Amino acid sequence: MNHFTYRQNQLYCEDVAVQKIAAAVGTPFYLYSHATLIRHLKAFRDAFVKIDHLVCFSAKANTNFAILKLFADRGCGLDIVSGGELYRGLKAGFAPERIVYSGVGKRVGEIDDALKAGILMFNLESVDELKLIDQRAGKLNQRARVAIRVNPDVDPKTHPYISTGLKKNKFGINTEAAIEGYRLAARLAHVDVVGIDCHIGSQITEAGPFEEALQSVKALLLRIKSETGIDIKYIDMGGGLGITYGDESPPSLNEYAKAFMQNIEGMAVTLILEPGRVLVGNAGILVTRALYNKDGQDKRFIIVDAGMNDLLRPTLYDAFHAIEPVVRKKASKTVADVVGPICESGDFLAVDRRLDEVNSGDLLAVMSTGAYGFVMSSNYCSRPRVAEVMVNDDQFHVVKQRETYADLVRGESLPPFLDD
Ligand SMILES: *Cc1c(COP(=O)(O)O)cnc(C)c1O
Repeated sequence: MNHFTYRQNQLYCEDVAVQKIAAAVGTPFYLYSHATLIRHLKAFRDAFVKIDHLVCFSAKANTNFAILKLFADRGCGLDIVSGGELYRGLKAGFAPERIVYSGVGKRVGEIDDALKAGILMFNLESVDELKLIDQRAGKLNQRARVAIRVNPDVDPKTHPYISTGLKKNKFGINTEAAIEGYRLAARLAHVDVVGIDCHIGSQITEAGPFEEALQSVKALLLRIKSETGIDIKYIDMGGGLGITYGDESPPSLNEYAKAFMQNIEGMAVTLILEPGRVLVGNAGILVTRALYNKDGQDKRFIIVDAGMNDLLRPTLYDAFHAIEPVVRKKASKTVADVVGPICESGDFLAVDRRLDEVNSGDLLAVMSTGAYGFVMSSNYCSRPRVAEVMVNDDQFHVVKQRETYADLVRGESLPPFLDD
C-alpha cells in the first residue's frame, strides 16, 4: 500500500500533484511519500509485536537524511555497512545501542568510530576481522560486542547479484568455520560474543528461504551453546523481503514474520531484522521528462532526461520498474525502450515496454524506486545528481538539492605543473 494514486487522471503523491512538483523543482527528481514510509515501518514492526525484536533499517537502501530522521524519531534501529552510514545515522539521531554494523570490508578507522560510538554489535564476516576488532577494542579500552555472520547456504531464488547466502558468495562464514570463529571469539580479551547473524539476499519473494535460514542458524546456535558455552542473545536474520515491482507476489508481512516466530518461540533471544527495500521501495518514485521519440531500425525509443546514472537498477540487475504517465491522456499504446541520455547501450529504464504513447515534454513516473535508487546514482557523464523531494500531506519539501555544475568539480585541483 502506498500513497501514489491518480485523481482525475493526474498522479498524486499524498495530496500533491506530481506535475506541480515537477514545475517547481525541474526534472528528474526522486519523490518520497512521508505517509507511506511511516505506514511501512509501522506495519513491519506490528508483524513482530508478539516477540522481543529490534528493527534496524538497512541504511544502504536509502540514506536520505529526512528518511533516516523520521525512522530514528520512531525509535527504529539502523543497519550500516560503512563509516559514512555510521556518520549519517548518528547525525540523524539513531541510538548507538540500536546500530548494527555489517559488511565484509570494514576498515580500521571505521571500526574505531563504531567502537567509540558504542554500537550494539558488529556483524563479523571473517576471522581476520574478528582478530582486528579485538585488537582495536583493546587499543581503545573498549569491549566490542560481536555476532558472526554465518552463511547458511540457502538459495534465496533471486537475482544472482543479490543472493548473498550461497557457498559461492563472499559473505559470511560457513557453519564449521563459524563454530571455530565462536571458539576463538570466546577466548579473545576485548570481545563479547552476543549474537549470530545471517542475510541471505534481497528481493526474496517466498517465505521458505527465510525459514530455512533460521532453522540453520538456530541449529548452529544450539551447537555453539553446547560446544562453547556461549549464550547468544541476538539472532539477526538480516533483510531481504521482496516487494511488488510488477507481477511478483511476495509473502505478506505476517507470513514473513511467522516464518521466524514459529521457530524461535520459547528461546530467550531478541530477533533483529534489517529491512531495507520493503520499507522504502514503494515509498518513492523517480520523475523524468520525455525528450524525444525516435524510431530506430528495429525498435522505438523514448528518450528521457533520467539515465542509468540516476537509476542503475535496470542496467545492473535487469530490474523491472513500472513506468506510468504523470498525466493520463486518452493515448494509443506503443511498444518502446525507455532510455536515458548516457552514452552506453546499457542505459535503459525499460526494454520493449508497452505503454501509453509519449510525447516530448510529457512527464513519466518510474515507480517503486525508493530503494537502491538515489543511493546508487553517480555523476557519470558529468550529470549532476538529481533532487530528492518529500511530500507530507499537501506540502512538498526539497530534502536534497539538485547538484550544480560547481558541485561537479568540487575538490578537484590542478597539479602545479599544469597550473599556469
Ligand atoms: C542490503 C542488506 C540488507 C537489506 O536488504 P533488503 O533486501 O533491502 O531488505 C540487510 N542486511 C544486510 C547485511 C544487507 O547487506
